[in-house]
Amino acid sequence: MRGVKVIAVLTCRCFVAGLNDFLDGGLDAANQAQFDRHASDCVRCRIVWETTRKTIELYRTFPAGMVPPALERRLMEAIRTGACARFDGASRREQGAG
Ligand SMILES: [Zn+2]
Repeated sequence: MRGVKVIAVLTCRCFVAGLNDFLDGGLDAANQAQFDRHASDCVRCRIVWETTRKTIELYRTFPAGMVPPALERRLMEAIRTGACARFDGASRREQGAG
């Protein structure tokens, strides 16, 4: 999915929203650098990133057709929306401090 807008300071919400593109290498160099930086600065997003990456790597080892497309979409959606909702609440406290 393209078209994720990345602002000057990448928030946890943006990170999670663009995670699929980041993992796919679908971001341009500037956005890729932002994601790299956020992942190294933010331990929560790094965990989400690592977990998602490992899940996708594992998933890609399955033979083609083993995972139905509908299930694949639901998995990706769950990763995105689940992580986003959880991290959005947590990041509000962080941003309130400064
Ligand atoms: Zn983060």
